[in-house]
Amino acid sequence: MRLLVVEDDPDLNRQLASALADAGYVVDRAFDGEEGHYLGETEPYDAVILDIGLPKMDGISVLESWRRAGRAMPVLILTARDRWSDKVQGFDAGADDYVPKPFHLEEVLARVRALLRRSAGHAKSEFNCGPVRLDTRTGRVSVDGSPVRLTSHEYRLLSYLMHHAGRVVSRTELVEHLYDQDFDRDSNTIEVFVGRIRKKLGVDIIQTVRGLGYLLQPPADAR
Ligand code: CA
Repeated sequence: MRLLVVEDDPDLNRQLASALADAGYVVDRAFDGEEGHYLGETEPYDAVILDIGLPKMDGISVLESWRRAGRAMPVLILTARDRWSDKVQGFDAGADDYVPKPFHLEEVLARVRALLRRSAGHAKSEFNCGPVRLDTRTGRVSVDGSPVRLTSHEYRLLSYLMHHAGRVVSRTELVEHLYDQDFDRDSNTIEVFVGRIRKKLGVDIIQTVRGLGYLLQPPADAR
């Protein structure tokens, strides 16, 4: 899952980005409204954390502009604690959730998890596919209850496929959602990672759809 953090306070930006990276997400960072707006309009993010008070272009204007352009990714806004009007304006502009400052990073992480699973149409933080279970709270993966150790790249890939079970995901889409903007993108590496995941899981839940990409079938009772 690839996220964008737009926050002008350098310390806060760094804290958010490193907590999210530790939680297994790929994170791009912007430090003003214009830069954030540009990235959100041109790159495919799975969710955005957007500060309201930003230089060059305020967060509300950034969000309104994205929504006008049809950008539908979930957006979590960061608001000043006593500015109730920020929240109202934010929701009206198309925000999906908010966190008042100062906040605990754990709360931001929990809200991001909730946004991602809701946008994937899931009510729970656990994803199951056959004998494979992925818990987005702990970042753990198991097969028939036995833990499987995946690298962060492998986890991200499996997590993305699980969030989008039931539809074919192309290699290009995976590259776009698994690497940050500076990464040297080579879609052949995806194939290598899928091979490793299959081997580690020992069950083949990831189907290759020739010429199109990969498909993970959701269990019948998943939704
Ligand atoms: Ca700010």
